[in-house]
Amino acid sequence: MIIVMRPDSTEADVELVVQRLGERGYGHHISRGEARTIIGAIGAPDHEKEVVAGQFSVLPGVERVVPILKAYKLISREHNPRPATVLIGPARVGGGSLAVIAGPCSVESREQIMQTAHAVKDAGAAALRGGAYKPRTSPYSFQGLGVEGLEFLMAARAETGLPIVTEVMDVRQLAGVAEAADCVQIGARNMQNYDLLKEAGRCGKPVMLKRGFSSTVEEWLKATEYIAAGGTLDIILCERGIRTFEDATRFTLDLAGVAVVRRETFLPIVVDPSHAVGVASLVPSMALAAVAAGADGLLIEVHPRPDQALSDGPQSLTPVAFGELMKQVRTVAEAVGRQL
Ligand code: PEP
Ligand code: MN
Repeated sequence: MIIVMRPDSTEADVELVVQRLGERGYGHHISRGEARTIIGAIGAPDHEKEVVAGQFSVLPGVERVVPILKAYKLISREHNPRPATVLIGPARVGGGSLAVIAGPCSVESREQIMQTAHAVKDAGAAALRGGAYKPRTSPYSFQGLGVEGLEFLMAARAETGLPIVTEVMDVRQLAGVAEAADCVQIGARNMQNYDLLKEAGRCGKPVMLKRGFSSTVEEWLKATEYIAAGGTLDIILCERGIRTFEDATRFTLDLAGVAVVRRETFLPIVVDPSHAVGVASLVPSMALAAVAAGADGLLIEVHPRPDQALSDGPQSLTPVAFGELMKQVRTVAEAVGRQL
């Protein structure tokens, strides 16, 4: 914590700050510049810093107090400097490998998910993703097949061997989703559902946390810390685009945010270009850019018949287009030292 004194502060003001620090059992370090004095507080425990900063900011002669603290600890690189590998079933995410997770936005029928599972597996996907519970902007849109959708996903896993990723929207769904899935996805709209985050951290399966589309990287990392505090470090982050003034694409893919996340945490991060751009023709270039930017994986929406999809058809790749993309992904992955 750093206490910056005003230029017109007096020696008595400085002494009072030092005295108050001492009363709390903290050490101090005074740095006297030409214009102002800065006092570093030493030994304040993290959990006290925010409150103490508020209290010191009202002392006479104090201009501002800067708490030097990261609100995320368990997931920070300081806590664990080595990049982690998270396993989705047998699929490795992070630690030098690149995992492509693909599938339809929604599980619509047994046949649709089977067909997609075989197609993405043949093209080299590491995991199958599809929503049984769908967070739709309109209550009148298709809401997902629920439990039946989970059963279809499990059947697809049994037939293809692909591990499955699927979304949980509510604490009440968590036990069922965690039992069925190899990785539980928390969607953009639930990034700040803190009760769900905490519970997901205790569900026994890895958790993929998508970035809220109006959230800063810091808010996203704090949300991630909730899952870690729940009890697991098997967490994958997913950048899926944020809302900006630009409306040429559905959202704006924040690849700089991916670089920041990689600097701040050891946890793997995947990129979802499908939701970010919202249109199939733009997905491949953003997918390749994400790999080049250091993503540990991709999340791509694929549908056997995008023209008949019940959700997100316009941004879904056909199996053929997905196969083409995978070839290019392989080339870029090799160029940046990643193994597909
Ligand atoms: C999805 O993954 O299909 C989805 C709804 O994405 P998001 O939560 O990123 O909007
Ligand atoms: Mn979708």
